[in-house]
Amino acid sequence: MDPHAAGAPPPQDDKHLEDLVRQQLLALGEDPAREGLIRTPARVARSLRYLTSGYDQDLDALLNNAIFQAEGADEMVVVRNIEFYSQCEHHMLPFIGRAHVAYLPDGKIVGLSKIPRIVDMFARRLQVQERMTVQVANAIMDVLAPKGVGVILEARHYCMMMRGVQKQDSSTTTSCMLGRFKSDAKTRSEFLDLTSRRSSF
Ligand code: ZN
Repeated sequence: MDPHAAGAPPPQDDKHLEDLVRQQLLALGEDPAREGLIRTPARVARSLRYLTSGYDQDLDALLNNAIFQAEGADEMVVVRNIEFYSQCEHHMLPFIGRAHVAYLPDGKIVGLSKIPRIVDMFARRLQVQERMTVQVANAIMDVLAPKGVGVILEARHYCMMMRGVQKQDSSTTTSCMLGRFKSDAKTRSEFLDLTSRRSSF
């Protein structure tokens, strides 16, 4: 289902990863033996492992039976402002932002806390924002078979802010609309309305 699953990194091989970070420090003209850097390869390896832990996650295990029958639940469910932290696959620099996720149930609903977990699962990989948006939408489509799914991601890309064009204030918005969210303008605009509204609490 996930095109990245096959290319997932091998299980824990952190000595190798630590060596690579040490090599990287050397290539940058640093001294990996100096006090401030001595434990850096281990820290970076652990950090990278965490930041890419989404590769090892399995959607079914993550949902852990939190899918419920809910006959008659046919109103839009929206979880908005889900913060996420990912890294662009082009520069391995962070892109961080917020996700807004909605679906129109068709007899099945999912525990609300699972939606941010699905977002995290796809954020904790080397990503492009466009693909991550589609992956989140497809995952919800697959597990709930709802009448429709809408996903909007807004993010700031550090590769654009710290280097390259150095645009600190620009943000990137991507969206994926499936089913009713694609075919029905009213559903889509209800979603867009709900996501742009300021929180009242
Ligand atoms: Zn980038």
